[in-house]
Amino acid sequence: MDNKLNRVMVTGGAGFIGSAVCRHLASDLGLHVINVDKLTYAANLNSLKSITDRPNYTFEKADICDGAAMLAIMRKHNVGAIMHLAAESHVDRSIDGPGDFIQTNIVGTFKLLEAARQYFSELNDAAKTTFRFHHISTDEVFGDLPFDDSKFHEDTPYNPSSPYSSSKAASDHLVRAWHHTYGLPIVSSNCSNNYGPYQFPEKLIPLMILNGLSGKKLPVYGKGHNVRDWLHVDDHAQALGLILRNGEVGRSYNVGGDAEMTNLDVVKAICDRLDSVVPKKASHHTLINYVTDRLGHDRRYAVDTTRIKRELGWKPNYSFSAGLNETVDWYLGNEEWWKSCSR
Ligand code: NAD
Repeated sequence: MDNKLNRVMVTGGAGFIGSAVCRHLASDLGLHVINVDKLTYAANLNSLKSITDRPNYTFEKADICDGAAMLAIMRKHNVGAIMHLAAESHVDRSIDGPGDFIQTNIVGTFKLLEAARQYFSELNDAAKTTFRFHHISTDEVFGDLPFDDSKFHEDTPYNPSSPYSSSKAASDHLVRAWHHTYGLPIVSSNCSNNYGPYQFPEKLIPLMILNGLSGKKLPVYGKGHNVRDWLHVDDHAQALGLILRNGEVGRSYNVGGDAEMTNLDVVKAICDRLDSVVPKKASHHTLINYVTDRLGHDRRYAVDTTRIKRELGWKPNYSFSAGLNETVDWYLGNEEWWKSCSR
């Protein structure tokens, strides 16, 4: 069977990052995208409106835990690469109910790997050379950093803290084992917190924007001192496109925005923007409300991005402040989209 790298199967393509990846691959890179998504609560097909009618975009509703369905989709579309983003992704939900995270992130990745292994074995030598399985993961697998200038490197030992990050860590290990044991040509990446348009409004930034807009309280965990590194989702999508095409087989790449912020400073920056574009009698800052801290809340994450910059020539285009203001404005102008989210 012949195949081409230009036919890319994207799992989780109706989610926040997956939809940005589909838009980037189909619109900017002109690749054929096969979006495979189960359409959980986190999915929104309206995020794909700009590419839905393109001839180089196809949608398949399916569950990655259904190995036979995954193999059938790979064969039907003669895919040349797989970008695996489908996951349960919200830490708070993983604390309330870890079962779905174990099922999708670990069992689902296993089923997808087994389908990919079978599919890969059916390819001819030329197609085998270009085939890639790109696993998309998070910096949270590395665990908790102190409040200093240390950063996660690609070889930092895994030390995940939450049901979410431990399920992602398990999936990362499976992907590497399928490369080491079976020779599946994989690349992988671990990225810091993403923000930008089309993010489901349970995550920090859209939650604060929409609560602020409707005059609701802005819940901040603990004292708001936990630090995260932030990257605009379109910068992440570009990084993923580069890793897929130019990354070295078997290698992993850290991706991040060199934009460390405390959660409180992120919320304050959102309040500043809301005060400037939709001023109210009382400043939005008065809505900030400190609530009981998340269980096992990691203090700080930060990633060293030297490898992807040096080896693949990637750099982010957005500064955090410009990207955040643009994101606030996007939510203000796209009520129809966030009202269509299943919450
Ligand atoms: P998301 O929750 O917005 O989207 C996940 C998508 O996966 C949804 O469309 C959902 O319907 C789909 N999905 C879930 N279970 C499925 C299943 N069993 N079969 C098929 N589809 C399924 O997530 P996101 O924020 O876009 O994250 C995407 C990936 O990137 C995840 O693997 C996540 O771990 C990783 N990641 C996220 C961030 C972040 O800041 N959001 C940072 C680094 C890495």
